[in-house]
Amino acid sequence: MTLPHRSAGYTLSQLQAEGTQRLTAAGIAPAEARAETRLLLSFSSGLSREEIHLRPNIILPGSVSEKFFALLSRRERREPLAYILGEREFYGLSFQVTPAVLIPRPETEFLVEAALTAVKERSAPRVADIGTGSGIIAITLAVRTPQATVFATDISPEALSVAQENARRHRVDNRIVFAEGDLLAPLYAYGPFDAIVSNPPYIAPEAIDTLETEVRDFEPRVALGIHPDPLHFYRRLAVEAPPLLLAGGMLAVEVGQGQAEDVASLWRGDGLTNVSTVRDYAGIERVVLGYNSGYQCPEL
Ligand code: GLN
Repeated sequence: MTLPHRSAGYTLSQLQAEGTQRLTAAGIAPAEARAETRLLLSFSSGLSREEIHLRPNIILPGSVSEKFFALLSRRERREPLAYILGEREFYGLSFQVTPAVLIPRPETEFLVEAALTAVKERSAPRVADIGTGSGIIAITLAVRTPQATVFATDISPEALSVAQENARRHRVDNRIVFAEGDLLAPLYAYGPFDAIVSNPPYIAPEAIDTLETEVRDFEPRVALGIHPDPLHFYRRLAVEAPPLLLAGGMLAVEVGQGQAEDVASLWRGDGLTNVSTVRDYAGIERVVLGYNSGYQCPEL
């Protein structure tokens, strides 16, 4: 269906039908196409999703339908909805996202849960989030643990400015130290920590081409994985994190499907203790955690 040009404007239901049809034709599942069209309508008109549902015969001004069509064509080219709307929800909080950062995934909530459990009883915990991206992990931990000080690093200055904006949005910028650099390098002066957490890039470069268009063509490669060894960051963290952890401090990471056992066994070999894994909603082992057995660098 292509809508005829109407100087009188289109109704919400016409635009809803057009959007659903075009997104379905672009390869998006019909139920998703319908829900996403409604979000795009809501975003371009300022009407709530409920209003859109309840008042299908409202005629929208031309400027609104033009805006809607512009957003719709971006989504038709499979640009992720989160980049078009500039927002994504994570752990009940809304975060700004731009193409400089990975889009938050619901399974990362399991890593946040593990970190919250580890630090919630501590009086003034210090937690580090390595490769913070949009800042979801650091900020959620700061919001949920008011007594914590959080340290967040990223190698990308563009990502760090998104994370800083998100910290201001959630009013925790006074309790998060942001530092640019490679993995733990910017944090040597700030340790030791009660917990170090990370959702590092874990996709093998050759596997990126097999991912869906939204991920492959739009999300930052540096956040997905550019190292030929997908376990690269887990190996480095196992060696570089313990000297920055308190005795008994926790290292926890998100891993890709099928990586948990390999990561757990290499961590055991590197001297982390009580190494265990946590499954996500889909039953996939998604988090690996372990504890510093007690050794600390003499200079710390
Ligand atoms: N920490 C961010 C997240 O979990 C970014 C992770 C990344 O870019 N690999 O979404």
